Amino acid sequence: MAFKFSGVDFIAFDSLLSENELLVRNSTRAFIEDKLIPIIEQCNRDGRFPRELVRPMGDQGYFGATLDSYGCAGINNVEYGLLTQELERGDSGIRSFVSVQSALVMYPIYTFGSEEQKNLWLPKMATGEKLGCFGLTEPDFGSNPGGMRTRARKDGDGYVLNGEKMWITSGSIADVAVIWAKVEEPGVAAENWRVRGFLVETDRPGFTAHDVHGKWSLRASVTSGLSMQEVRIPAANLLPKSDGLKSPLMCLSQARYGIGWGAIGAAMACYDIALQYAKERKQFRDQPIASHQLVQEKLAWMITEITKAQLLSLQVGRLKDQGKAGFQHISMAKKNNVWMALECARMARDILGAAGISDEYPIMRHMMNLESVKTYEGTHDIHTLIIGQSVTGIAAF
Ligand code: FAD
Repeated sequence: MAFKFSGVDFIAFDSLLSENELLVRNSTRAFIEDKLIPIIEQCNRDGRFPRELVRPMGDQGYFGATLDSYGCAGINNVEYGLLTQELERGDSGIRSFVSVQSALVMYPIYTFGSEEQKNLWLPKMATGEKLGCFGLTEPDFGSNPGGMRTRARKDGDGYVLNGEKMWITSGSIADVAVIWAKVEEPGVAAENWRVRGFLVETDRPGFTAHDVHGKWSLRASVTSGLSMQEVRIPAANLLPKSDGLKSPLMCLSQARYGIGWGAIGAAMACYDIALQYAKERKQFRDQPIASHQLVQEKLAWMITEITKAQLLSLQVGRLKDQGKAGFQHISMAKKNNVWMALECARMARDILGAAGISDEYPIMRHMMNLESVKTYEGTHDIHTLIIGQSVTGIAAF
């Protein structure tokens, strides 16, 4: 039984969107339907990132889409959110790839980089000719990146980097890694060394990447560990305007915003299939399972939560376009919407009964993907603490 996705809109949400916003949403939906849906289940089985879609996505203007000039599309934040929603309706791994390329690599180059760095990297990253990764997490430091052990040592007219990064999306396929490291300062206590960002070309001697295998989640996305042993880079590779841990956190805020929208896409995919299946599948008195109250309760919960998530993300997007979105607003959207999507995936799986565990339907794939999405870019609980700090003024980390 194959179901075609026709969109989810319970309260005329589309009437809140501009023509351009609808255009971006609809064209991305068509792209995903045409190019990703036919291959994604096999990619997921094979644990393969569909690299053949990178250049077509570049042609569509998906990379660095909110940035102005340097070959980027310059769309607004709501358009970008709708784009990530549609990408993740296809697969969280594809959305993750676009989020990393855009929010975690192009954004820091755009925001903290020199004019030379922007001219060198951004146009080629916008087309997908060059790929990037973002190295913040380490084997021993995830939620608390301030403890990082990666070091940059000034040496003549350059820097020498040493350290390990872990769980890095696109690590082994990247041409350049944005590496966050503490810069050694002789005479200053190590805990006071400042975090700065560096552009590290991945073919530099001493830089290696190894892929994480055996993942049950984001199987269509590349996840790698990075190792840097005496990697020498010119001083011009320092992102000159990066300054302290707030710089990578600013990047994470960009990416989390897109994740908040993306999760809605995964939830929509699961809800839509569960609804269509429930109307066709018959059990007891030859009635569709959709006629049973307990099934309706699940569908009603899903559509209510999806609708609330849409409104939350739209408001955060409008605030972002006005320069008024705080990181706590973005935390609320990321935390709520990913949790909501995971609950929708679990309920949808339940509604499909045994069929729900098969990859004839995308539900289990979305569910497994969302387990990663719940953890990365700040775990669900860390976002709770960010919101808690915002309302109480007290940090409880
Ligand atoms: P931990 O920090 O060890 O947390 C474990 C548990 O403890 C969590 O439940 C957490 O909520 C809880 N916890 C921790 N501290 C507190 C506290 N103070 N109070 C209450 N609970 C707490 N990182 C990158 O830098 N770049 C990437 O591209 C990237 N891609 C990723 C892709 C995938 C598929 C995955 C799974 C991860 C990726 N990550 C990436 C890493 C991700 O950001 C981290 O996994 C995340 O920050 C959590 O860190 P951790 O896994 O070390 O968990």
